[in-house]
Amino acid sequence: MSVATCHGKERVLARPFRRGLDLTVVLATGLDTDVFGTFSGERPRPADAPETCRRKAEAGMDHTGLDLGLASEGSFGAHPAFPWLAVGSEWLTFVDRREGLVIAESLLVPRTNFDRRVVSPGDDLEDWLRRVGFPSHALIARPHLGEGSDGSVDVSLIKGIRTSGELVRALGRCARASSDGLVWLETDMRAHCNPTRRVAIRSLAFRLVRRIASPCPACGAPGWGLCEGLAGLPCAWCGQPTERLRAEIWGCVACDRREEKPRGDGRHAADPGDCSWCNP
Ligand SMILES: [Zn+2]
Ligand SMILES: [Zn+2]
Repeated sequence: MSVATCHGKERVLARPFRRGLDLTVVLATGLDTDVFGTFSGERPRPADAPETCRRKAEAGMDHTGLDLGLASEGSFGAHPAFPWLAVGSEWLTFVDRREGLVIAESLLVPRTNFDRRVVSPGDDLEDWLRRVGFPSHALIARPHLGEGSDGSVDVSLIKGIRTSGELVRALGRCARASSDGLVWLETDMRAHCNPTRRVAIRSLAFRLVRRIASPCPACGAPGWGLCEGLAGLPCAWCGQPTERLRAEIWGCVACDRREEKPRGDGRHAADPGDCSWCNP
């Protein structure tokens, strides 16, 4: 099975796939996955994350000539409901060309170190650096204004900063290149620079392996699992439907079999605090 990655993710993915499915990971060596876009914005992403992930897996298979492919993709930003919280999303997509199957899993990661801020080389950054997990987690620096501030010029974008010495030099260089002397400093989210992300990708890999190992009850194809959540869990006081999940739709990637299942945690009623009638 080919893995399209240039950020060392194959080491994280190898064990779950070998143990769960007896598949050996083959790195698509020399494949430039940055053509699918980069976190640091030098290249915009041409498609949404699940689509990018599938295209990456296909490119890896073209590159290695194998019939099975795997690719991973992450995105980071503000939580849709709580914008002061950073969340990450991880996708992992498995493609089987012989059978024409695309099996994907995703994970919302509430624990991420994703953050960025504008700094001046003289600032006291100690608290921030501790919060984002530096130096076990690497950083990226770029000039705040002027050439390279949008990430367009690689020369003034410094990635993979891992030591205090590197950080001081990067801040100095980017500040000199910036017309206001300030620097954008942000977390480097590439997997080999970010142990928190590697943990998330590993748990997602085990989830995807379980899903591939689950056959559809109708046609037997691999990949049976959760497709979407249905909102409308009734309020415990008044019985009105709420925004909370009421049920899960499970489905097949090969045929149109769908099944509605109750929530995995067995809850039948929502907290009245989540009800727009009882707690408007
Ligand atoms: Zn209610
Ligand atoms: Zn099926």
